[in-house]
Amino acid sequence: MSSERTRGLVEADRRHVWHPFTQMQGWIDEEEVVVVERADGFWLFDSDGRRFLDGISSLWCNVHGHRVEAIDRAVREQLGRVAHSTLLGLASVPSIELAARLAELAPGRLERVFYSDAGATAVEAALKIAFQYQAQRGQPGRTRFAALGSAYHGDTVGSVSLGGIEVMHGLFNPLRFEVLRLPSPHCYRCPLGLERERCEMRCADEAERLLADHASTLAGLVIEPLVQGAAGIIVHPPGYLARMRAACDRLGLLLIADEVAVGFGRTGSLFACSQEQVVPDLLCLAKGLSGGYLPLAATLATEEVFSAFLGPFDAYRAFFHGHTYTGNPLGCAAALASLELLEALLPQLPDRVALVRTLLEERVQPLLHVGEVRQKGLMVGIELVRDAATRQPYPPAWRVGHRVILEARRRGVIVRPLGDVVVLMPGLAMPEEELDLLVHTTAAAIRAVTEG
Ligand code: PMP
Repeated sequence: MSSERTRGLVEADRRHVWHPFTQMQGWIDEEEVVVVERADGFWLFDSDGRRFLDGISSLWCNVHGHRVEAIDRAVREQLGRVAHSTLLGLASVPSIELAARLAELAPGRLERVFYSDAGATAVEAALKIAFQYQAQRGQPGRTRFAALGSAYHGDTVGSVSLGGIEVMHGLFNPLRFEVLRLPSPHCYRCPLGLERERCEMRCADEAERLLADHASTLAGLVIEPLVQGAAGIIVHPPGYLARMRAACDRLGLLLIADEVAVGFGRTGSLFACSQEQVVPDLLCLAKGLSGGYLPLAATLATEEVFSAFLGPFDAYRAFFHGHTYTGNPLGCAAALASLELLEALLPQLPDRVALVRTLLEERVQPLLHVGEVRQKGLMVGIELVRDAATRQPYPPAWRVGHRVILEARRRGVIVRPLGDVVVLMPGLAMPEEELDLLVHTTAAAIRAVTEG
């Protein structure tokens, strides 16, 4: 039974807050809204003091847990100096220090840092930089982008144009610019109808062919390296990214790596691209950049790209783009503190990744309606199917994924579905006991809904 205060909050929420990616009709009718009031470590506490394990890192961004002393302190100290000042015409201490640190940590020589405040804006900036770069290096015909099937790069109109998820993006077709769509390397549901054991990565051949056919009109290829997150945690076959890098090099395209979801240790290394020794021309970062504390994003560029924007004032080669909160000092201070902690955390990741793999193999994979368990680092997608032998999906109206996450919530664990893929995205520093609880509870919830 919730308190009077909670009932008042829920009523006001239902009246005034329009939640993202939410059918508000269902939300308003739904019997229980969890109102988060505070957090500690990997636990969220609601306004009645009930606790829930944060199994999705507060939408894939929290790295070290909530209320981490070192990050709290860094933000508080920055608050004692200045909360915000602009990067238009001025510089600021934490934005300088963070840019230098990112340049040091990023693969290759991605030394120029353009700040913004969300994953979508990091991608949006990359698109415009790539477009303008091609024009200013004398290739004005290179105006288009290539992107993967089922791509997701955010919800601004440029990012939505890149998107390849019909239910999210199709409605906006009249607003979207056209992109060259490459088949997604999705081995469980291969768009070419092949099986991974025998296909020899024909999707990469097909992508290379399409890129070559259209190269003279293409500014760049935008890709989520190693894992397509929002598409359902689609783990790419090893070598795919390196082949796309080589194709871009051959054909004069920029490779734009969207590491918004996969960056900052999520796939097991600081950046996903490094696992295939790939250096992108533009690297989009957000989510885990600030440790999941504050909205902060960055688009990193190589010197080659950056230098195409230099020239006398009246040549108008500057990048005319920016946001009010670009390079926000509080966010940069949080990011610097988070990166310091991350350095110590990275060596511990292999053990955590292996533990989650074992737990999934033992408890989740054997379940009757689990079609595939996909894991890369600490990103997990569990695809639920009506018939595992034929991979037949459930009818969408059954909302099986949604029912599973509500069941998990009743058991004190917050996870989220992408359709009928249940996503586990634990904070990288989550202790073993809580990782165990996360997988255990998810398995129980899947069983209760699909076998109950
Ligand atoms: N790119 C990728 C790969 C993402 O997963 C997301 C968010 N899930 C975004 C971009 C958009 O980030 P934001 O929600 O911060 O705009």
